[in-house]
Amino acid sequence: MPELPEVEITRRGIEPFVLRKTITGVAVRNPNLRQRVPRGLARILVGQGVRRLARRGKYLLFVCDAGSLIVHLGMSGSLRVIDPRTLPREHDHVDLVFGDVALRLRDPRRFGLVLWNAGDASRHPLLAKLGVEPLDEKFSAEFLYRATRGRDVGIKQLLMNAQVVVGIGNIYANESLFRAGIHPRARSGRLSFARCERLVAGVRDVLLAAIAAGGSSLRDFVHSDGSSGYFQQHYYVYDRAALPCRVCGAAIRVARLGQRASFYCVTCQKK
Ligand SMILES: [Zn+2]
Repeated sequence: MPELPEVEITRRGIEPFVLRKTITGVAVRNPNLRQRVPRGLARILVGQGVRRLARRGKYLLFVCDAGSLIVHLGMSGSLRVIDPRTLPREHDHVDLVFGDVALRLRDPRRFGLVLWNAGDASRHPLLAKLGVEPLDEKFSAEFLYRATRGRDVGIKQLLMNAQVVVGIGNIYANESLFRAGIHPRARSGRLSFARCERLVAGVRDVLLAAIAAGGSSLRDFVHSDGSSGYFQQHYYVYDRAALPCRVCGAAIRVARLGQRASFYCVTCQKK
């Protein structure tokens, strides 16, 4: 599933092809994504310039002259830069054409979104209640300390709550808790300020490392014809059940926490 780093890599990869360019064509082959692609999208978009390509959580925002195109990659979506004459394959549901270049959305599971919002996209119901950006300076130790007071939930669950902080999926929640030495079940409300500091740093470090790793494969990511294009990474705990901890050698444990698999080292991570 594309997580925040993949979405940010996508944003950086396609930005040069769309920024200050004019949309000259739109093709919708299958409008049945998580929500229906708006009818008449071509009529709305053709002729508009893209002023900015922003990201909010895992949403890409093509900020145009008259509003914003909101794109979400869902569970299996990817955007590629192609020659518009390239024949579409199965699951290539939407194209945005910019003259001699096109962006093609491929989404086999169709949990993605392509929506139009006239006016300010930050007020859109999907975006209005989102928490802070984890790479923004607003996501600070002070913020996390305040946000956790009086909360009895495990810290991993709170970290994955998009109304608190956006875009920290299961992989990065596991990895950042390991880096901070915090057990995923540690009670949020009892986290010390020092541990909040370590966790904020851990979140930033794992996300930036993932973006850096993806940056090196940016060319492939954007241009490849491959089915996923997501980059492989080196994890400390995620998906490493029973394997030795890379720091202390103890076996990595796995537990179900709120439907999601939590991977942790009992030696390195404390409640
Ligand atoms: Zn360990």
